[in-house]
Amino acid sequence: PPPSHVLQRGLSPTSHLDGDGAAAPMETGPQTGTPPCSPSSQQPAVKDDFQFVLCERCRQESPNLKLLTCLHTLCLGCLSENKPIGQCPICRTAIPQASGIPNMENLLFTNLQTRLNIYKKLSNSSGLSCSRCRSETAAVWCSECEEFLCTKCFEDHQWFFKKRSHEARRVEELRAESAHQFLEDTRKSYNLFCSSPGHANQGHISSIYCRKCEKPLCCSCALLDSQHAPFCDIHSETQRRQEELGIMSQELKQKRSSFEATYVALQDEAVRLEQVQQEMRELIRQRVEQLVRLIRQEEEELLGLVEAQQEQGRQEVVRELQRVEGVLRRMEAGERLVEKMSLYATEQEVMDMQPFIKDSLEQLQQLQPPATGDQAQPGDLAECRARLQAL
Ligand SMILES: [Zn+2]
Ligand SMILES: [Zn+2]
Ligand SMILES: [Zn+2]
Ligand SMILES: [Zn+2]
Ligand SMILES: [Zn+2]
Ligand SMILES: [Zn+2]
Repeated sequence: PPPSHVLQRGLSPTSHLDGDGAAAPMETGPQTGTPPCSPSSQQPAVKDDFQFVLCERCRQESPNLKLLTCLHTLCLGCLSENKPIGQCPICRTAIPQASGIPNMENLLFTNLQTRLNIYKKLSNSSGLSCSRCRSETAAVWCSECEEFLCTKCFEDHQWFFKKRSHEARRVEELRAESAHQFLEDTRKSYNLFCSSPGHANQGHISSIYCRKCEKPLCCSCALLDSQHAPFCDIHSETQRRQEELGIMSQELKQKRSSFEATYVALQDEAVRLEQVQQEMRELIRQRVEQLVRLIRQEEEELLGLVEAQQEQGRQEVVRELQRVEGVLRRMEAGERLVEKMSLYATEQEVMDMQPFIKDSLEQLQQLQPPATGDQAQPGDLAECRARLQAL
């Protein structure tokens, strides 16, 4: 283990590495004092509890997480794939940007991914090596540099960053923490930088908030530039902003319950609609079946009617045929008899037979052939047609 006097030298007064490396003052949660979990038992907890830092579509880690106006979080890859659709794949809220890529980064989730990966490194490997020299075993972790440092490199680091307050913590101590504790501790150790141009790069830490510009400022900006005022403590401002969100979220819960009620009502409505449609479909099927049965019955009757009338018509035509045939035979016989009379009859025979033959021929002369077509359409087919039309 590194000599404690080396570690203590040059540490900021807020460092957790004070004295014998006792628990940090903020570790007062229910997890305080719990023995370090083994990596195997800790992995599922990290996995399950921190699923929310992943892209909500592909469930993957990504250094480019974007926050949509609907407050869903998607990675750049998913957003590019989703671009033709132009709306959030989860809630279907439109994405207004023509590129399909929202402007807002989800800094919280990307940074949490980074911090969780550091935690995983810590809890997984016992012989973690120094990020700088890469040979010695890491003894501390600087949250500002986001580096694991060996004792020697840590000394150099302390000398180099003398004027800035970099918080460094013992690797062993961190390893004993739960993921939640680790995130809670590291969250306190991140600094907020001055918003004036270039000041963040120069490491100007902000502790003051200008209410007029709504920006965090470093002491020199606040003191030297007279246009800034009124001021307040940056922590009270971040606290106020968190509370503001908390209150809004609380207020939205009422709205949410009314939306939930509407959702249930709409679901019922959908079920009811489905039932009504189902009933109507059944009704249509039954009625059509009934109608088809009726029409089939009518078909039978009409076909029967046609059959009967065809039979009747056929008989009539046969009778007519026979009658006409008889007439034709009579005419033939008359012709033949008149011809034989003129060839062979004696005067006595003419005198005796001529009046009788004349009578018969006169009767034939009276006969008219029946008008064809009148019999071919027996009047009753008209009834068939009418019933067919009425179907
Ligand atoms: Zn994704
Ligand atoms: Zn959405
Ligand atoms: Zn080193
Ligand atoms: Zn550092
Ligand atoms: Zn500044
Ligand atoms: Zn200002």
